[in-house]
Amino acid sequence: MGANRLGEFELIARYFVPLAAGEPGAFGLSDDAAVIAVEPGHRMVVTTDTIVSGVHFLPSDPPEAIAAKALAVNLSDLAAMGARPRAYTLALALPRDWDRGNAALWLEGFSGRLVLDQREAGVDLIGGDTVATPGPLCITVTALGVVKEGEAELRRSAARPGDLVYVSGMIGDAALGLKYVMGELPKLAADLGNSLADRYRFPRARIELGRQLVGIGHGVADVSDGLVADLGHICAASNVSVTIDASRVPLSSPVRAAIASIPDLLAVALTGGDDYELIFTVPPASADTIRAISNALDTPLTAIGRVDERTAMGPKAVVRVQGADGRPLNLGRHGYQHF
Ligand code: ADP
Ligand code: MG
Repeated sequence: MGANRLGEFELIARYFVPLAAGEPGAFGLSDDAAVIAVEPGHRMVVTTDTIVSGVHFLPSDPPEAIAAKALAVNLSDLAAMGARPRAYTLALALPRDWDRGNAALWLEGFSGRLVLDQREAGVDLIGGDTVATPGPLCITVTALGVVKEGEAELRRSAARPGDLVYVSGMIGDAALGLKYVMGELPKLAADLGNSLADRYRFPRARIELGRQLVGIGHGVADVSDGLVADLGHICAASNVSVTIDASRVPLSSPVRAAIASIPDLLAVALTGGDDYELIFTVPPASADTIRAISNALDTPLTAIGRVDERTAMGPKAVVRVQGADGRPLNLGRHGYQHF
């Protein structure tokens, strides 16, 4: 490392060792690996997600937002499995042309936000890796969670004909928030646009909801690629087709305002990604339970459709989206794909 660069070990000691203080098995980030005890009668759930500058966040996004997203996208996967978050690792590839001052400022904001979010989620940092890259800023988090043995984890594969399809929170905020910050919604009032942008930059994982759905949810996924695409993943895993009613999909008032002036944005809301809500199916007999969970968590849980017929394996499973008039809506692209 050059003299103007923050040394690797200095960096880890200053910004990340404090985040490992709550987990004895992290050994203060001083050993080769962490050792994590799993409580008897529990199993570990493991997930990893990488976020890349210019792909998953904007190069201009503040470090606090990047930290929040790196952790939340992983916690959201744990939520979709019904797991209780336990710990996480952090691999950082920092652009090698960052000078010491910039890197220090960035790491200050980044690690400061992780402190807050890891406390809220009840996790500690247990290890990671730090490298310099000729490419863009890139962050990989691996999150560990636990589920109780005997309480089957939530899967995508158990949706059944007759189930109701529910979604948590509001859909489309993040996709329209991204459009707003890209300057593509110039007519949207700034306060509305900024509230959408915040939802893009600071997603929140539905951890408690996921845990409450254990034993109730049939097909469960988080909405990362887009509502229709992620529901499609449930369909493909469960070999079923579903119909959802576009007019019942919960939309926030800023999203409604945006759609009122540009109707095509409805398709963006339904197919855009990054909301990190949960989409799930339950038998109709569980509707009262879902209402009770919604009240207890103060989280909207909205029935938007139903599971229709069982279908042949994989690609035969389809998501039908119908408009207010009952006719099929053509949405074009169904969700984000990297390749
Ligand atoms: P190794 O060379 O064995 O891979 P490193 O020198 O990369 O070990 O890391 C030393 C210690 O610091 C390890 O415990 C590792 O988990 C931890 N560590 C490195 N980078 C990070 C990071 N970004 N966040 C958390 N822990 C880190
Ligand atoms: Mg290393």
